[in-house]
Amino acid sequence: MDLERKVEVRTEKLLKANQELRGENIQRRKAEDGLIEQVRLSTLGAEIGSALVQSKDLESLLQLCTESIVKHLDAAFARIWTLNEKENNLELMASAGMYTHKDGNHGSIPVGKFEIGRIAQNKKPHLTNEVIGDSQISDQEWAKREGMIAFAGHPLVVADKLVGVMAMFAKKALHENDLKALASISDGIALGIVRKKAEDQIHFLAYYDNLTSLPNRFLFRELLGKSIEYAGRYKQTCAIALIDLNDFNRINDTFGHNIGDGFLKSVSSRLLKALRSSDNVARMFEGRIARMGGDQFFLLLQGLDRGLDASPVARRILSGLSQAYEIDGHEIFITASMGIAAFPDDGRDPDDLIKNADTALNHAKKEGKNNFRFYSKSMNEASLELLTMETNLRRAIERQEFLLFYQPKVDLATRKIIGMEALIRWKTQTGDLISPAKFIPVAEENGLILPIGKFVLQAGCLQNKTWQTACTKKISVAINVSGLQFGQKEFVQEVLTILKDTGLDPQYLELEITETTIMKNIERAVQNLNELKAAGIKVSLDDFGTGYSSLSYLQRMPLDSLKIDISFIRNVATNPDDAAIVKTIITMAHNLNLKVIAEGVEDEHQLEFLKAHGCDVIQGYLFSPPVPPEEFFNLLTRGNDQLFLNK
Ligand code: C2E
Ligand code: MG
Ligand code: MG
Repeated sequence: MDLERKVEVRTEKLLKANQELRGENIQRRKAEDGLIEQVRLSTLGAEIGSALVQSKDLESLLQLCTESIVKHLDAAFARIWTLNEKENNLELMASAGMYTHKDGNHGSIPVGKFEIGRIAQNKKPHLTNEVIGDSQISDQEWAKREGMIAFAGHPLVVADKLVGVMAMFAKKALHENDLKALASISDGIALGIVRKKAEDQIHFLAYYDNLTSLPNRFLFRELLGKSIEYAGRYKQTCAIALIDLNDFNRINDTFGHNIGDGFLKSVSSRLLKALRSSDNVARMFEGRIARMGGDQFFLLLQGLDRGLDASPVARRILSGLSQAYEIDGHEIFITASMGIAAFPDDGRDPDDLIKNADTALNHAKKEGKNNFRFYSKSMNEASLELLTMETNLRRAIERQEFLLFYQPKVDLATRKIIGMEALIRWKTQTGDLISPAKFIPVAEENGLILPIGKFVLQAGCLQNKTWQTACTKKISVAINVSGLQFGQKEFVQEVLTILKDTGLDPQYLELEITETTIMKNIERAVQNLNELKAAGIKVSLDDFGTGYSSLSYLQRMPLDSLKIDISFIRNVATNPDDAAIVKTIITMAHNLNLKVIAEGVEDEHQLEFLKAHGCDVIQGYLFSPPVPPEEFFNLLTRGNDQLFLNK
């Protein structure tokens, strides 16, 4: 072989070797590229995976997903829409790359429209490396201008149900691996949407009111806590107002619950409107409204200088709420009451403030509706006392701590005891006697007056019957009946049963009711009074002169006597006005054929005046205070008709 040939062969060999080497290199590079590719795509998968676990809500999850797509697939931009089933459209939830979330007018896309809407409709991906000329890409002008090459759109589907669409544009061709990666992350994202939506739903149910979509009491408590913290740090005041609709049940009862619900929704939007209203006061505060449940709403006012600054807002809300509502063709009016408590003066934590706003609300309600009250410490003391009283009253009923005292009613002409009034006393375990003036109003409020009143009727009738059997003198017993008792359907029947059980003749029972009791329900009063009269039971109008004192209804009432209130008797001998009133009452009562009883007679001057003007019966300390049964029996049986016993 000559040299030339040798060189040739070597070169060939070298070339071959070189070629082989190059081939290996290419293969190796290919393998390396594949590895990088794999790493790149698996990083994408991993990022999406961790977003699924870590992001706190749907929007931030999807935002992370679009950012990862842009980063790892070299997309010009990526977007994710979720399906709004009700509207049948796709709502843009996240966007990364050259367009931000708010760019463009594709905020929501009807299913079936544009490339995105069609992907949703067909539930099939659309992938192309030739955007220009692709009939599915609607905005060709734009695509040309921006130099778009590839488009990849995936329906996001879980269990064959569409939940959204994910799409990206790129200015370079997408490889098969890119498409595979997209397909594989789309499943994860779809599952993420379903799960986050469910979580949002659970969160909504736990923290928002279903009917009005306002924050509920739990969220409100949390917001209030934050607000207190903030106010504490910046030495500000924040206040809460508890708003309660007056007689809301009337709306439910009259129109049904559906209209009631609609009404509550209108109330909540009025509250929001009142807060957003453009006047200066409102703009000063950031307010929040929550629904506590039922017909109660909470308002949170932040950034106040002092609690009193809440008043203009309170006033505006009350006047806003009291305007007519139009619901289902009905015009409805309602008023509200409001209790306000402020941090730090009225409480330092959410629970205290909420409790004190409630106390203030109760006061607002009592003082007439359609107004608001600021909490004050004395309210709490009063309501604590009331609460203790209620607990103690219940126990007193169980332990039978009530007893009756009796006060004689004396005939002015004959000076003989012709009757007695039973007056209840509460003897506590420590031996204290508590006045009915203290506990009867509480018992009326919480309904305990019903068992208490029944006890008085039974004990009074039984006592009278026992005395009638023990001595020949027969007098009547007067029992005070509260409004709540008298308003019960079965009241008259209950009285009749007690008379039967105790054996007392109905003519020896007298019931004392007040004008207020009658006025509460005139129809029921007339009916009850007629039935009582028919049964032979007497009825007196107690505390006369302090109530409505309307002659026109008095005429319609089958009453037997009228008791002039103690407040007119007190100064009857010294004050000409009182004297004139008492004279008129006596004349008027006689014209109506009613007997007149004067209560609270304490001295001879009063007695003389009453006698001179024809009063029939006297009751008062002048003769005797209310006394325990044994003492009363002594009075009754002493046989002494000169009844100036106290002297
Ligand atoms: P009332 O029915 O008007 O009873 C008259 C009140 O005047 C009684 O007060 C009596 O002790 C008091 N009194 C009698 N004479 C005089 C007097 O000369 N001077 C003065 N300053 N007061 C006199 P009491 O016993 O404290 O009862 C207060 C109110 O409590 C009663 O007023 C009545 O409205 C209510 N009450 C008492 N017992 C019952 C009851 O069993 N049921 C109901 N529903 N209410 C009752
Ligand atoms: Mg009375
Ligand atoms: Mg009275």
